[in-house]
Amino acid sequence: MSIRAKFLAWVDVLMRVAPLFLLDEILKMNLFNENSSSTQLGNSTNFDMINDTIEESTLNQTEAILSSTFDVYTLSITLFKCLIFLIGCFCSLAIFMLWTRHLVIIYMYVISVGLIFLSYWSNVSAISLLKEGNPSLIEDILNVNVLRLSSPDGTAVTLLPHFLLQYVMGTIFAYIHLGPKHHRIQQILPFTFLMPLTLAILPIPLNIVKHAPTFAAVLPLVLSKIAIWSASIDIFKTLISGYRHAVSFAENFGLSALVENEWQRLNVPCVLRAFWTIRLLEQFASLTLSPEGEALSFMFTIQKLLVSGCETLIALLGMTSIISMICHYLGVLFQMFLMSDEDEDKSIGTVSAILFYILSLQTGLTNLQPDKRFIRLCRNMCLLLTALLHFLHNMVSPILMSLSASHNPSRKRHTRALLVCAFLLISPVILLLILWSRHQPSTWLLAVTVFSIEVVVKVLVSLATYTLFLLDAQRQTFWERLDDYIYYIKAFGNSVEFCFGIFLFFNGAWILIFESGGSIRAVMLLIHSYFNIWCEARAGWSVYMKRRTAVQKIASLPEASSEELQKFDDVCAICYQEMTSAKITRCRHYFHGVCLRKWLYVQDKCPLCHEIVINQDLKTETEKTTNDVAVEPAQVPNLEHLLPRRATPSRNIHLHHQPHRGSSTSESRESSHSSIASNATTNSNQNPSSSGGSGRMMAGN
Ligand SMILES: [Zn+2]
Ligand SMILES: [Zn+2]
Repeated sequence: MSIRAKFLAWVDVLMRVAPLFLLDEILKMNLFNENSSSTQLGNSTNFDMINDTIEESTLNQTEAILSSTFDVYTLSITLFKCLIFLIGCFCSLAIFMLWTRHLVIIYMYVISVGLIFLSYWSNVSAISLLKEGNPSLIEDILNVNVLRLSSPDGTAVTLLPHFLLQYVMGTIFAYIHLGPKHHRIQQILPFTFLMPLTLAILPIPLNIVKHAPTFAAVLPLVLSKIAIWSASIDIFKTLISGYRHAVSFAENFGLSALVENEWQRLNVPCVLRAFWTIRLLEQFASLTLSPEGEALSFMFTIQKLLVSGCETLIALLGMTSIISMICHYLGVLFQMFLMSDEDEDKSIGTVSAILFYILSLQTGLTNLQPDKRFIRLCRNMCLLLTALLHFLHNMVSPILMSLSASHNPSRKRHTRALLVCAFLLISPVILLLILWSRHQPSTWLLAVTVFSIEVVVKVLVSLATYTLFLLDAQRQTFWERLDDYIYYIKAFGNSVEFCFGIFLFFNGAWILIFESGGSIRAVMLLIHSYFNIWCEARAGWSVYMKRRTAVQKIASLPEASSEELQKFDDVCAICYQEMTSAKITRCRHYFHGVCLRKWLYVQDKCPLCHEIVINQDLKTETEKTTNDVAVEPAQVPNLEHLLPRRATPSRNIHLHHQPHRGSSTSESRESSHSSIASNATTNSNQNPSSSGGSGRMMAGN
């Protein structure tokens, strides 16, 4: 990107920041009189601004109608404010969404109107400096009265900057105004700006000169008015065409594509970040420049800044974007530390942003009093921190698996992954120690505790499987029990998670009923109970049943005797490893019991000859049990996971009857590890993806 393009992108972002400030101010507006008293109380700190959402406004409105004895005046004022509120919100959002070229036009118009008022103000203040009875400037010039002309508080010196300013403003206005541009009008415009001061120089009575600024503003105002009249149809057309464009885009590519497209076009995260930073700087300046600013301690300033940073919904969005950026870079940092080059966890920023915003919404952050709001913010930050630990675990766990499976000799990578695990074990404990020593037990504290323990359990499960795979790598022979151990460990981890999920459901329900209600919280609780309790339970049950039927089928097959194995003298066609024990299928093919069991998760046919593996009568019996469990297609593990990764796909496997022995042992062993690893992960119930985890987090508190 060239410097010019970067600069233009920045200008675009800054131009979109202004409507956000407008929206922010509108949201801060007090719609109702009963709030204004509290505003006056805390006016010095500017904290008690209570912003009202639209729903609340209508609610309060009905209350007002019911309680007051039809005070028409207050009602009409309130209605008027509501109207202004709605129009303001709509306008600022519409301006925010405009194309850049339309945005430039709006800015030109606003600047030109602003110039008119600035010029008026400058004229009035300059004329007020003139003193009655003094000889006019033109007389001084004609008399060459150098002393009076050059004296520092004389008329000439005070008027000169205003004179220059007026000329500059006149020229700029002539250049950018949107009214009809005739050659004559363009030439006249700077002079109309200069007119009042010119009159002030001439020997004209002061009470006539005093009215000059008003007349001078007439021509530019008329031009602006014509501009807005003639543009009103265009504005309407632009809005309509924008709406049509959006609708047709959504019809062709879907709503999510539209949102994504607009998100990128408007560069929303960047705009929000710029908005929040500017807002923060403004608050900081007003805090430090205020009379009592010197006495404020550092922590107190930070607290105030944070509290005012989530004052309105739009400010909260800005804060969210900053937090999302911080989380994203934390993720990148850890990824660099782990030396992984996968970019799966790019979403860490997005998910944490959604998590933070919904948490804030469901705890009603913007409507709280400042001190309570700060506490709530800290609590949400704690929850976000535990969520981050979960993300980190999701990042490090696959790395551990791949390290244990791939015989990776790089000790550095092993050490780093283990260090991150140690961090994930220690930090929740420290967090809990600090929180429990300082706070009374509460639903919030319980939720944080549960999330922290969950992280610890998950990390321990990952470490246990990692150790098992490493131990397996040390062994010379095939470890039949490994798959069982892995299954038990995963089952333990998942059951703990499931129990915690149920606990969080009750915790959330408690908060919903006894502490703070709210529709967002109820929806979150529903989402949590569906995805984290119902779906998890179903998936876990189906995995359990599938495994049980597979075990039953395997048990029905005859075991190969040692003579038969000697006569066979080949590797298992599924994992390419030596066989010390084997099961014989109906079609007289030999496989490891464990390998065949994993194959049976997928299908009942022999991998080599496609015959039905087990006897028919048993099959019908087992089929009955499988049909009891609704197996979703997503639950069936991918076929390729069962096969050695470097081998050809399943349908070609019969070509590999006689793989090289010896030379490829290490390679095939390695691939068998990875296949087990990936299989184990698919088998464990569809794992708590980051989004599921965040749903759980929101419902939990
Ligand atoms: Zn095998
Ligand atoms: Zn066969």
